Amino acid sequence: MKNRAVALQEMEKTGFDLCVIGGGATGAGCALDAQLRGLRTVLIEAGDFACATSSSSTKLIHGGVRYLEQAVSERDLGQYQVVKRALRERKLMLDNAPFLANPLELMVPCFSWPEIYYFRVGMKLYDWISGRNVLFPSRYLSKEDSLRRMPMLKPDKLVGTIAYADGQFDDARYNLALLHTFTKSGGEVLNYASVVGFGKDNNGQLVQAQVRDELSGHRFAVYAKAFINATGPFTDGVRELAKPGVRQRLRLSKGSHILLPLDAIASNDALLVPKTDDGRVIFAIPWLGRFLVGTTDEEASLHDEMVVKQEEAEYLLKHLNRYLVHPLSKDQIVSGFAGVRPLVASGNARGTKELIREHEVEIEPSSGLISVLGGKWTTYRAMAEDAINAVQKRLAMPLAPCITSRYRLAGSEGWEPDFWTKLVRDYGVCSNTARHLSQKFGSAATKVLDLADKESQLKQPIVEGSPSILAEVAYGVREEMAATIEDVLARRTGLQLFSWEDAMAAAPAVGSIMAGEFRWSPGQQKDAVEEYVNKITRLMQLIGLRPRHVLSAG
Ligand SMILES: Cc1cc2nc3c(=O)[nH]c(=O)nc-3n(C[C@H](O)[C@H](O)[C@H](O)COP(=O)(O)OP(=O)(O)OC[C@H]3O[C@@H](n4cnc5c(N)ncnc54)[C@H](O)[C@@H]3O)c2cc1C
Repeated sequence: MKNRAVALQEMEKTGFDLCVIGGGATGAGCALDAQLRGLRTVLIEAGDFACATSSSSTKLIHGGVRYLEQAVSERDLGQYQVVKRALRERKLMLDNAPFLANPLELMVPCFSWPEIYYFRVGMKLYDWISGRNVLFPSRYLSKEDSLRRMPMLKPDKLVGTIAYADGQFDDARYNLALLHTFTKSGGEVLNYASVVGFGKDNNGQLVQAQVRDELSGHRFAVYAKAFINATGPFTDGVRELAKPGVRQRLRLSKGSHILLPLDAIASNDALLVPKTDDGRVIFAIPWLGRFLVGTTDEEASLHDEMVVKQEEAEYLLKHLNRYLVHPLSKDQIVSGFAGVRPLVASGNARGTKELIREHEVEIEPSSGLISVLGGKWTTYRAMAEDAINAVQKRLAMPLAPCITSRYRLAGSEGWEPDFWTKLVRDYGVCSNTARHLSQKFGSAATKVLDLADKESQLKQPIVEGSPSILAEVAYGVREEMAATIEDVLARRTGLQLFSWEDAMAAAPAVGSIMAGEFRWSPGQQKDAVEEYVNKITRLMQLIGLRPRHVLSAG
């Protein structure tokens, strides 16, 4: 990616075919598809890339077994189609960035034979709908086999488990990989730039987005022939900018997750808690060295703060603990995050839990704004394909074929599962760091290590004991438009999800590298570190944890 200042200049002087508003999964997917079809495309993101819903997912690439259950029990063809399409996309997502995504076996513990039959039939149906895209077939495991795989399961009531497959991924880095692929294909991106209004031609059609640079306050215009609104939970707000008074289309639902140490569970297998008190499912999944537990599902508004609350953490632990020999406690939580699902409102659904995760491409005729509503991470590519088909029709262009279904993302070139061994051999890094870099950056890990080769202080770990190194900070700033300490720790390196304590401890070193990159004054550096540490301290306090980390002076 270009340096922000250069990218901004480029945008001000160029006219585009398409301007995509929003740099989450949907916007990144749309931008890549459009650019690959030959449309000159720019993407504008109000915060950091993937800062909203797209880094707050359960990290599953799935058709959704719960949606399948709803499809069957309510004979809902719409839900069935969503599951079927998502299962096709699941395979493509795994294939297109293998360093960021992998198949995963999940186990459903059952306490009675009727439950075993119920889930056995359900998962066979899931396999059947997957067709040739099935990852591996579902199967029944006896009580003994289940306990061998997951010794932490409560043995007394257990009859057996049903194991089935889905995919899992690193959502924030997948989002960045989409954007790297987009910019490599010639697209322009800018983060921390909000669309705050539109300019129209004599017929009321959008011709210009008015943009505010959130870092400098500078305002400028971006000219394009078509505009896609891919702002997730903020979609109604941007629709309103294009056509004041337009009917709101979204209902929002908050979901919280917590992370716990892997050894608290003593298993590397994923668990699906099949029924919560409010009729939902909860996942407990090994993810990048932690157990990720989620999620809650509560109607929300844009005014709600997206933080994990104490009662939400307790809800997740309560339901998980029903299945565990040694109950987990709140004090074992190492981090957490929350996000809001942008769901398309439906006339008859009572709660957000019942809303279909289907997407819709809406073209508002009086302004021409194309909004992509709803959907889920797993279907980002299909959503983009539909949206760019609509753009091409609107621009009265010949339809260029969509090529994203078999388009490998940046970092996949030359990457194999043992790529990390090459990093150990060629750069002399330890195997933990090599594995970490290979998992986060794919074959682009060599670019991170090239920086460390040139500037030896960048070889240092980001914090004592972490596989992350300081070169990732410099790479984040120079190549991925990271602008804040949180951009680096939450979405570039992922340390904030691994451990709030480690992330706070890393903040001064990260701040110091960023100060060098951006020429921050000592005061600016101190403020940036303090702001970050205070934010994480508050996140911990909100769920009743007392931070051990105390910011040292300077
Ligand atoms: C708790 C939870 C769990 C989930 N789990 C899964 C899962 O396991 N698997 C799955 O497939 N899906 C899952 N999803 C759904 C998935 O995460 C979302 O569907 C997807 O991330 C939505 O992406 P998006 O790009 O539409 O929205 P976002 O990621 O929210 O992106 C929208 C972007 O638009 C930007 N923006 C807003 N206004 C403006 C403006 N005026 N100008 C410029 N930019 C603007 C925002 O800053 C934001 O970054 C989950 C969602 C939640 C909340």
